Amino acid sequence: MIDLQYFSPEEEIFDPLFTQKEVKVFVKRDDMIHPFISGNKWRKLKYSLREARNTNKNHLVTFGGAWSNHLLATAAAAAKFGFKATGFVRGEKVENQMLLLCALFGMKLIFTDRTSYLEKQKLFNNYFADDSDAFFIDEGGAGIHAVNGCTELIYELRETYNHLFCACGTGTTAAGILKGISQNELQTKLHAVPVLKNGEFIRTEIAKYNENLTGFELHLNYHFGGYAKTRPELLQFIRTFSSSTGILLDPVYTGKLFFALYELISQDHFSRGDKILAVHTGGLFGLLGMSEKFSKVI
Ligand SMILES: *Cc1c(COP(=O)(O)O)cnc(C)c1O
Repeated sequence: MIDLQYFSPEEEIFDPLFTQKEVKVFVKRDDMIHPFISGNKWRKLKYSLREARNTNKNHLVTFGGAWSNHLLATAAAAAKFGFKATGFVRGEKVENQMLLLCALFGMKLIFTDRTSYLEKQKLFNNYFADDSDAFFIDEGGAGIHAVNGCTELIYELRETYNHLFCACGTGTTAAGILKGISQNELQTKLHAVPVLKNGEFIRTEIAKYNENLTGFELHLNYHFGGYAKTRPELLQFIRTFSSSTGILLDPVYTGKLFFALYELISQDHFSRGDKILAVHTGGLFGLLGMSEKFSKVI
């Protein structure tokens, strides 16, 4: 059986701002699920791995950028559950800490120019048409399996919350969480923080899996210039947050999420007495790609 015995508590964090505004803030610690199969990436992969196993496909083939948390999660999960793994890496050959970890977990890396990378199914067919063992997993583990895995987060909650915050890349995780909220008939409002520019597309992505978007709010102003882009105030915020809570954030996803949450609290976006849950989607190795940028602000 493909499963992880994991621990993802809801942990309260404290700040004078929360006291002043009379809100309570909790973190769903999905970053603690596994050091490498971390956060939402385990939730997104789980049902694909099970399908691969059930159909006797022993070779996972997937896709990602050179700093992809999904590639690392797939590599580590493949090693743990006895699959072979191949990762198509977008762009020219590079070496970095993330890809080193993927290789240590036994993933074969194929660097792919940006044009060919766009046609993932074609790449898969070119390389693996004759490999009856090969199992295609889309970039980031998208699709209904991923959505259903993320839905389970809501079933784990011990408390009820007025608001739930989640960082979005593709929006798959947020789509699953909203589905879980409606299945459980909760009043919790979902706040999505896209980390890419022009994040309006997240609404469309979420609508593919959810009919009712009334309890959903999109916060478009926290991308800090776009995916993997950052600004000194974000890096400063991460430092202050991590040093005062003991919880690390990365600049690509969770840093932007918590920055948005703190700013919205200070702008009185919530009511007194509200309980807010922020999902820590893990992915901390993204920090390693930003060490030079941090060195300028620390
Ligand atoms: C991949 C990732 C996300 C984005 O998830 P989507 O389902 O693509 O929206 C958020 N946070 C972290 C840490 C991630 O690695």
